[in-house]
Amino acid sequence: MFLKTLREVDPEIFDIIFDETRRQHENIELIASENFTSEAVLEAQGSVLTNKYAEGYPAARWYGGCENVDRAEGLAIERAKKLFGAEHVNVQPHSGTQANIAVYLAALEVGDGLMAMDLACGGHLTHGHPLNISGRFYRIIPYGVSRQSEQIDYDELAQTARREKPKMILAGASAYPRTIDFDTFKEIADSVGALLMVDMAHIAGLVAAGLHPSPVRMSDYVTTTTHKTLRGPRAGMILCKEAYAKRIDRDVFPGNQGGPLMHVIAAKAVALKEALEPRFKEYQGQIVANARTLAEELAGLGYRIVSGGTDNHLMLVDVLTSRSITGKAAATALDRVKITVNKNLIPFDEKSPFVTSGIRLGTPAATSRGMKEPEMKKIAAIIDATLSAPEDEAVIEKSRRQIAELTEQFPLYAERREAMALVAK
Ligand code: PLP
Repeated sequence: MFLKTLREVDPEIFDIIFDETRRQHENIELIASENFTSEAVLEAQGSVLTNKYAEGYPAARWYGGCENVDRAEGLAIERAKKLFGAEHVNVQPHSGTQANIAVYLAALEVGDGLMAMDLACGGHLTHGHPLNISGRFYRIIPYGVSRQSEQIDYDELAQTARREKPKMILAGASAYPRTIDFDTFKEIADSVGALLMVDMAHIAGLVAAGLHPSPVRMSDYVTTTTHKTLRGPRAGMILCKEAYAKRIDRDVFPGNQGGPLMHVIAAKAVALKEALEPRFKEYQGQIVANARTLAEELAGLGYRIVSGGTDNHLMLVDVLTSRSITGKAAATALDRVKITVNKNLIPFDEKSPFVTSGIRLGTPAATSRGMKEPEMKKIAAIIDATLSAPEDEAVIEKSRRQIAELTEQFPLYAERREAMALVAK
């Protein structure tokens, strides 16, 4: 039966998980940083490995009884090295944020210059937000995108680097729809004697599948989350040259973490095994094809897609220019019809980050449940109908019905939901 023991012990939390399982099935998930893991990943993560303390690293732990978790961590490391062609991998970061902080600790001294993408142009909070450790401890030198192309302006980036002489240049973003030219980043970093760090959190799955150039060869440090396009558990990972291995390991533990989450590391190993299978390439190819179709359909319906399109799994839609609706209002309207997105700043946005002119759409999660180009076309039409008449209850009701029909055709976690159906609630 569905979560039988939990239901008896804690009916409130049972209810929440029940409702969330249903919500995930009934909504079209277009948040670009989210995905649905496989059943195997969920099983590993929900296992007894959560009970084990394992401070240290395989065969060098501060606790006894680590012989089994050592094997899990060994597999995760071995698979990540193979998947990305990395010299050294640390699979212990609890999150992408902690992976980034460990690299900062390893590579920088307080006050050093860190050149990173402006948050308003798609960078992440850990790339220099004033409240984040990055913005508090380091001299942040932002770079952005060109006003015309809305893509990274490498000439300007090189000029800024020459002027500011950063200790490290960071490439990677949370809301950048275009291919990132890591070779040019490396040239610029070398020309000013800076280290190169790449945060590939969003595109790790595409990199693994060879659908985005890999940053591993030319970067000093590469960080990633494991739960976005890579489709693993919510966590982080660091890849680096062997020369930095000792220092990185030290700055993850004890530098900025205690005991590793062995159940999550086992789940990462499972996701990495899945990513090494040939069908993962097909899956990533479908993510990209779906994003392209969704962007083209929306553009055809008159929406302005930031930078004119997408090369990866996500796009930014300028809803203010296209339909005179803010990103915040658009996200709320779409929520009502069970399409989940997030409001997002667009480059040179005149609205605040709380309101925004844009929304960010991504296709990894919808692709995981089997949706392809025809479904993207339907979703684009439903988005358009909803955003063109967000106050019209008849339109909202129709959109909601169309989404219900679509999600029923692409069941999510079918076995769990079958078990749920037997639970009277
Ligand atoms: N780096 C990038 C580029 C991200 O987009 C994110 C999360 O969205 C992170 C790091 C942080 O990951 P986490 O939420 O696991 O701390």
